[in-house]
Amino acid sequence: MTKVAVVTGSNKGIGLAIVRALCKQFEGEVYLTARDTARGEEAVKTLNSEGLKPKFQQLDINDLNSIIKAAAFFRDTYGGVDILVNNAGIAFKGKDWNTPFAVQAEVTLQTNFFDTRDMLTHFMPLMKAGGRVVNVSSFVGSQTLNKCSKELQARFRSEDITEEELVGLMKRFVEKAKTGQHKEDGWPETAYGVSKTGLTTLSMILARRLSKERPLDKILLNACCPGWVRTDMAGDKAPKSPEEGAITPVYLALLPPGATEPHGRFVSDKEVQAW
Ligand code: NAP
Repeated sequence: MTKVAVVTGSNKGIGLAIVRALCKQFEGEVYLTARDTARGEEAVKTLNSEGLKPKFQQLDINDLNSIIKAAAFFRDTYGGVDILVNNAGIAFKGKDWNTPFAVQAEVTLQTNFFDTRDMLTHFMPLMKAGGRVVNVSSFVGSQTLNKCSKELQARFRSEDITEEELVGLMKRFVEKAKTGQHKEDGWPETAYGVSKTGLTTLSMILARRLSKERPLDKILLNACCPGWVRTDMAGDKAPKSPEEGAITPVYLALLPPGATEPHGRFVSDKEVQAW
């Protein structure tokens, strides 16, 4: 059966660069997905003008129906998915003093953690043997981990943390941010950072589950940092181009058949990082 790769939030930025690279390197069909169909189709046209032929699927990770519809499409059309890159993400600007921290916490965690988790909940059962799952997290999530209380750090790093416990911790952060008590509860003042600490931890939990429940399928799942990349999110002072930012996610997406590692790791510049 035809192989298929799916990249979320790929109408621009790092996601678009990941699709561009996969179109050149992956032997299968590559889906550029976007929450907005017009922006997605425009991006497809851009790649077409470069001689590349991605396909398009609407996919808004904030909309559970959109996730379920897309999952059904890939199941019915391809019998599953070979490569899933969860790239879609948001960040309030560092200098956004107008949006209260409580709102930043709720909105950022919703997309970067809870809705990315919805993607994983609905797409993990579709992952084919030999599949690769890449969650685009951030080094900011690692820095944030180190700024959490000792109690929180121990839980995020523990081998026995469950998905339910992690979800509870992420909800606790949002609730404490709403009452202004997040600092005394052990959290640093960064909604984006906490969302990515959560995403990296979730990646480790799901990788352990894959090893336990589907060992013969040899699916590899990792979180990564693309580096600091010139995009609408990070601005024009960042050192890496989107193409350079795509290198590590694409490396993880194309880990060769039979590879057994990295798996359940946080990877940056193609190197496993301490967590
Ligand atoms: P970007 O240029 O702002 O692109 C973000 C992409 O995600 C856009 O295509 C956006 O779509 C999409 N998106 C946002 N919410 C979505 C939703 N609900 N459903 C589907 N797509 C959605 O940002 P970027 O810098 O390329 O970031 C890509 C990923 O890399 C993010 O996860 C980010 O946290 C991570 N990252 C970036 C950097 C950096 O330096 N740039 C560093 C570390 C990690 P719209 O066009 O519709 O808004």
